Amino acid sequence: MIGLVDANNFYVSCERVFQPKLEGRPVGVMSNNDGCVIARSAELKALDIPMGTPAFKLEGLRQRGEIHLLSSNYELYGDMSARLAQLLRDACPEIAPYSIDEMFVYLDGFTNDQCEALGRKLRQRIHRHLGLPVCVGLAPTHTLAKLANHFAKQDPHYQGVCLLNGQGHTTEALLKRTPVGSVWGVGRRLAERLAIGGVNTAWDLRESDEKLLRKRFSVVLARTALELRGTPCMEMNALDQPRQRIMTSRSFGQPTGIFAEVHNALRRNAQRSAEKLREQQSLARAVMVFLNTNRHRRDQKQYFPNAVIALPSPSDDTRVILDAVRQGLEQIHRPRYQFMKAGVMLLDLVDAEQHQLSLLNPPTRDRHPFLMATVDQINQQMGQGTIRFGMTDAPAAWQLRCAHRSDRYTTRWDELMKVGTHPGAVAAAEAKQQQKKQQALTSTKRGTQPRA
Ligand SMILES: [Mg+2]
Repeated sequence: MIGLVDANNFYVSCERVFQPKLEGRPVGVMSNNDGCVIARSAELKALDIPMGTPAFKLEGLRQRGEIHLLSSNYELYGDMSARLAQLLRDACPEIAPYSIDEMFVYLDGFTNDQCEALGRKLRQRIHRHLGLPVCVGLAPTHTLAKLANHFAKQDPHYQGVCLLNGQGHTTEALLKRTPVGSVWGVGRRLAERLAIGGVNTAWDLRESDEKLLRKRFSVVLARTALELRGTPCMEMNALDQPRQRIMTSRSFGQPTGIFAEVHNALRRNAQRSAEKLREQQSLARAVMVFLNTNRHRRDQKQYFPNAVIALPSPSDDTRVILDAVRQGLEQIHRPRYQFMKAGVMLLDLVDAEQHQLSLLNPPTRDRHPFLMATVDQINQQMGQGTIRFGMTDAPAAWQLRCAHRSDRYTTRWDELMKVGTHPGAVAAAEAKQQQKKQQALTSTKRGTQPRA
């Protein structure tokens, strides 16, 4: 059996762990520079505020205290993600992180009952240790596990854990009421094409002739149909569609702790990821870098860190991604560990075309080719390095507007959570911190003044 553990409204849930007052309230997390909504709590969804709503349109609601909008705090989300993965690693024979908040666990040799029991235990344990709500989908294949997770989330009857067999009445009934577009790897356009041929539900796809699917559509879709029947035929590598995240990772031939070697491997992964990103015409908002030691070497010290770096604006520019990768690696690399694997994950993807059409986001991307050509020309005439991109050396953090970011409770000593019995004491500490933040803000503002 394969399990998919997926956190509910992950970004919002991370925020609620440290700000319980947000529980039960409509909460949204905004993209970099507080541009638009990229994560919503169930309560915010209930207000019919769609994903991608520009933050300025919600300013009135926010000021009246009807909704809460927070700047994205990727450092916190990345750290919570690493903790979630570690909890699963401790409890399961094998795990494979699929995105920042979704992880597959492989439960070979477990009976259905054992799987369900473990699913419930994991759910409890994650809630107790991390305060995060998750749902668990269990099934014989990746595609079915993903659907099982979807049912676990949608239907309260499952209490967060849904096991789906390859065969049986329950599976049939559930697949029959699932639109084919909800199946993993079937995007909107593909769903429209399938509908023309009378394939409307997940069940229709499962019952379709595999050879015909391969001929008319693709090998991937034929495999998806097989997976819906309970026949595993997708490797993790093939799980990239539809791509809401892009991951490129590789295991090293030789384990290494040397920064330059790990960096080189990551650079390759980053370039490949950026290519995939441009291929599918998306832009990424954040980049996650992760490292793994060899967990089978019990004699060696283990370390599975990750770092998430927010990009100044959504980008598909290899240089921007490479820069984020270097920053991330510098945060997490420790030479005393022997790393076995390194990877790059591009997160919170947005459609490049849509992004460019938006008035809010001027199409800076279009200007890149001109900008590049001009810079190259000046540098050729005036000498190398006459014009450099500030981004490559400066930390990107100061360029980001994040007026409503919560503290990075789990990764910064000076932002640890404050607890006190006397309400006045906590308020005083908060006021002091606010003052500090204000100071920092003024000094960075000074830093961004154009230098004549
Ligand atoms: Mg999730």
